[in-house]
Amino acid sequence: MSVSHKLDDKTIKCIRCGFCLDACPTFRLTGQESKSPRGRIYLVRSWREGVIPFGPDVVEALDTCLGCRACETACPSGVAYGSILEMAREHIESAHLRPAAQTFARKQLLETLTHPGRLAFSLRAAGLLGRLTGGKMPGLAAQLLSGSPDQGIALPTPQGELKVHTLPERSPAKGDRRHTVGMLVGCVMRVLFGETNAATVRVLQENGCDVVAPPAAGCCGALHLHAGFHADALARMRALIDAFEPCLPELDAIVVNSAGCGSTLKEYGELLEDDPDYRDRARAFAAKVRDVSEWLVAIGLTPPARPVHAVVSYHDACHLAHGQRVRQQPRQLLQQIPGLQLVEMDEADTCCGSAGVYNITQPRMARQLLARKIAHLRETGARIVATGNPGCLAWIQQGVREAGMDVRICHPVELLDAAYRNS
Ligand code: SF4
Ligand code: SF4
Repeated sequence: MSVSHKLDDKTIKCIRCGFCLDACPTFRLTGQESKSPRGRIYLVRSWREGVIPFGPDVVEALDTCLGCRACETACPSGVAYGSILEMAREHIESAHLRPAAQTFARKQLLETLTHPGRLAFSLRAAGLLGRLTGGKMPGLAAQLLSGSPDQGIALPTPQGELKVHTLPERSPAKGDRRHTVGMLVGCVMRVLFGETNAATVRVLQENGCDVVAPPAAGCCGALHLHAGFHADALARMRALIDAFEPCLPELDAIVVNSAGCGSTLKEYGELLEDDPDYRDRARAFAAKVRDVSEWLVAIGLTPPARPVHAVVSYHDACHLAHGQRVRQQPRQLLQQIPGLQLVEMDEADTCCGSAGVYNITQPRMARQLLARKIAHLRETGARIVATGNPGCLAWIQQGVREAGMDVRICHPVELLDAAYRNS
């Protein structure tokens, strides 16, 4: 089926009931129908029916969408909004509907983020520049990417040393081996969150898993897919399947600690369904993908014996809560840590504004959402906030730092790791 027909098939399911409006962060901020799921679907459908052109107003409506998929959770009609957005954005890029310089800048940004060596190098260079500009990327880059030179682009802070972190190709289970799992090391994760990756391996080992990290495995394609660069995304998906395939038969699961990647990996079967060479392989690959919290709950967590005395709040990453419908498992894991007190924040499953590269391309709206998230976090009195996605980790960390709060940001597996290691 062609992309256009798929788009028609998906948009027609919208019955315009509006149940999704209150769930949509951009509608809540603006009150504008064109910044709501129903409005965006209506615009795409009107374009497909030839009623309106795909003009700059439609591009803007789609650019301001976070892709958070909260509307899917709220929708009684089962509208696959995430797929509609991906296909509409693919049209923006393939039909060249934005200025060439902006397309170039967006593509360069994605290429940098998804090549760990380039990302580490760029952050080092930008860090030097940032020190001269108060921690923000200056005018030209911001103007190209966000259309707003005065907003600047805040640079993420790496968790440890700024370098490309690697993992052993095979890490043996502690004690008797119960399972063998593959692990996605990621692209952004291995530069900014090498410690989280290392903690994930240790927690899996502690739970009787041999962990296989194929050295050739690279980016999963999620960032390109969400931004409309479909062909680039598919190329990355095929390469990742190739990298995992030799070890796939021995793997009980492919474990992922990044919600945005996991959500896309689980959709590989559908995304590659038109490719006769990869269709079945993509389905076999996707069937094994599990978020790390999902996997640990499924196999029965080895309870940590040592306490972590801390008040912790949990932020639902959109692509975990809405994209994968994984909400309870991270909470269940945290509740099994002795001494840890879990306090819920208001709007825990509302987007923090990070949303892939949204905080770079739409900084105004992203900052409003971050301020709201930080205010809710402050109300909890928590000293630690846990979340399962690198974008959220970096963005909330930045919000906390700018607010001068003494709050640590980490992935739930890092708290489990601390409880196993008494650190
Ligand atoms: S809830 Fe679903 S069916 Fe209703 S307007 Fe929103 S997307 Fe359409
Ligand atoms: S993906 Fe998020 S921001 Fe976009 S329409 Fe749906 S709820 Fe709104």
